[in-house]
Amino acid sequence: MTEADVVVIGAGASGLMCALEAGKRGRKVMVLDHANKAGKKILMSGGGRCNFTNYTIEPENYFSHNPHFCKSALSRYSQWDFLSLIAKHQIPYHERDHGQLFCNDSARDILDMLLAECENAGVVIRLNTHIDAVEQATDQRFHIKTATDCITAQSLVVATGGLSIPKMGATPLGYQIAQQFGIKVWPTRAGLVPFTLQPEDKERLSVLSGIAVPCVVSNDRQSFNENVLFTHRGLSGPAVLQISSYWQPGETVMINWLPKWDAAAELKLKRQQKLKNKVKTILEEHLPKRLLCSLLPEEWLKCSLQDLSDRQIQKMAEQLHHWLIKPGGTEGYRTAEVTCGGVDCDALSSKTMVSKQVPGLYFIGEVVDVTGWLGGYNFQWAWSSGWCAGQYV
Ligand SMILES: Cc1cc2nc3c(=O)[nH]c(=O)nc-3n(C[C@H](O)[C@H](O)[C@H](O)COP(=O)(O)OP(=O)(O)OC[C@H]3O[C@@H](n4cnc5c(N)ncnc54)[C@H](O)[C@@H]3O)c2cc1C
Repeated sequence: MTEADVVVIGAGASGLMCALEAGKRGRKVMVLDHANKAGKKILMSGGGRCNFTNYTIEPENYFSHNPHFCKSALSRYSQWDFLSLIAKHQIPYHERDHGQLFCNDSARDILDMLLAECENAGVVIRLNTHIDAVEQATDQRFHIKTATDCITAQSLVVATGGLSIPKMGATPLGYQIAQQFGIKVWPTRAGLVPFTLQPEDKERLSVLSGIAVPCVVSNDRQSFNENVLFTHRGLSGPAVLQISSYWQPGETVMINWLPKWDAAAELKLKRQQKLKNKVKTILEEHLPKRLLCSLLPEEWLKCSLQDLSDRQIQKMAEQLHHWLIKPGGTEGYRTAEVTCGGVDCDALSSKTMVSKQVPGLYFIGEVVDVTGWLGGYNFQWAWSSGWCAGQYV
């Protein structure tokens, strides 16, 4: 039997942050992970450069069955706190669109920083450790049974992440532990994930593979102004990944291909100015030729602007500004960046992340029903929730 004050299951973003904070408080912390390396998702994130936070972090950048839950942690450990840690370790970084912050060199800088902080704080990290069972004894200590021994701890932190990228070691263990202790888990689904298309759309749109267009993608609940990318499997790009988190199977998604150009008004104006161009020539200044040919019938594109009626212009504009597509599905956990749903926030304290009904049991990071947008929001949630738990475990 090995004794610790705190056992953290999961040596990912939130688990390492929690561990180093608890270690700094003098707690004897042990982190267990079944993977052969810590922080694998950190290493693969942001195309290898880790989009570790964002200059603008608001509760509105997250969704959850309890949208208020994330507020406390995000304000108590903010992006500025994480940036102080980055500064302490002199990690060079840069800003990209929408305030997203990336490492200049490599995501490894972030992982090395967390591991160095853990080492300084005396945290023990045990990899290749398979968890067989978790129990709480009558003295409220947790018994974590691994393939080789049993570890007991006063606090147990579940930081096992979501289900995305099973190849990287994602498992449902965190949800199972919650359910074992009677804690509600909201159904999970893949988020920040490309859409697949219905067979007929796939065939029709396959010629567009490789085209990326800035546009606005929306449904009844959300709207994102970023790029859409056609791939050989379906639709991807930041705008599609973002809306996918808000998408329910069977729903239609709307794309405005020309958010900055009022097609009806502009075409009417040009017609009034007696411009004799073909519709195609005018629209090609704003959208790739291949895309136009898929969006509008050939006879419309071939038409001279002067031959168009108001009604035809209106129909054309409708198609360009309110293009509807019903995705066949998503690529699922295989390629998803996050998992939506998870451990019910109402079962946890938003200040400490401890279970309201099981003393000493904490849930942090992606396993909790808090999902961020694309842009560094999910890591910030991992840092913030991990930090908060680290102050109390
Ligand atoms: C390809 C990709 C790119 C991403 N890029 C970004 C980005 O640039 N910016 C951003 O903000 N977010 C990004 N994310 C999301 C981000 O990686 C996660 O939200 C974040 O890592 C969640 O942290 P976590 O600590 O909750 O879980 P994780 O970091 O996933 O850590 C969970 C840990 O638990 C371990 N574990 C799981 N099951 C078990 C088990 N049964 N026994 C023992 N250990 C277990 C895993 O091995 C893992 O080490 C990306 C995700 C992916 C998949």
